[in-house]
Amino acid sequence: MRDLTAPSRVQALMQKYGLKARKSLGQNFLVDQNIVQKIVDAAGLTPSDTVVEIGPGLGVLTARLAQKAGRVIAVEIDQHLIPVLQENLAAAGNVQLVHGDALHTDFAALTGGVPFTVVANLPYYITTPLLFHLLESGYPIRRLVLMVQDEVADRLAAPPGNKQYGALSVMVQYYTRVEYMFKVPRTVFIPRPGVDSAVVRLEKRETPAVPVPDEALFQRLVRGAFAQRRKTLANALAAALPFLSREQWQQELRALGLPDNVRGEMLSMEQFAALTAAVAGKQ
Ligand code: SAM
Repeated sequence: MRDLTAPSRVQALMQKYGLKARKSLGQNFLVDQNIVQKIVDAAGLTPSDTVVEIGPGLGVLTARLAQKAGRVIAVEIDQHLIPVLQENLAAAGNVQLVHGDALHTDFAALTGGVPFTVVANLPYYITTPLLFHLLESGYPIRRLVLMVQDEVADRLAAPPGNKQYGALSVMVQYYTRVEYMFKVPRTVFIPRPGVDSAVVRLEKRETPAVPVPDEALFQRLVRGAFAQRRKTLANALAAALPFLSREQWQQELRALGLPDNVRGEMLSMEQFAALTAAVAGKQ
């Protein structure tokens, strides 16, 4: 397997294939052997595992994943990278390359319905929609090991009351246990991004963190609560879920012992669940 962590090798490959790193696709290629190893170790793979990699790029992680897992399915949106990946992964017989958009991929069909692990150095622009897509779809995901922007890693792990706490925090913590693994400096990528990154491990829970009577309503309620952060929660909810008026939402919040000026960022996941239960029959 070629060493894709050597910056000179990456530059030579890009020249050979006439490639330019496409900023619009979040292309920052990892060129640090040690970080690649730490990401793969964090995934805890065995030969019986199926891995889905999103955005394999030049294949630096893919090659290492293929040595550890039984099967790797790598979904890459940029068709210019497909021949490069074919060349770089020619020796790996257990990698399936898929040219497609991970945001519109049916992962159940792709994997044949078996449980799988997601490993990715994510293109930053799809982090939030991709996490919602993967978690809310109900795919049998075991764990996700993801490189994200450092600031996003903080948001994923943020507790209520923290200024980083938002809909993404609530929904990710509802489905998974979040572990901040390690920080990754911007210097280990070609080209170098404007911010540092971090690797997080999201361990899927057996059952969601709190019971809710209507998951779709819970999701709408959580998103609505944070859609307009400057509004009070009653105003934000009335705008996003107009089946109750602002006054009625206010009543519901009071019944939970919450003050009139409460904002979404103060509510714990348990309180969002209680609010969902209280209004579930009133739509
Ligand atoms: N895994 C490689 C690495 O670590 O060097 C590349 C990581 S780079 C940050 C992100 C990769 O995701 C790029 O190869 C990019 O083309 C790809 N990508 C961007 N948007 C995508 C999408 N919607 N679906 C699948 N791949 C995507």
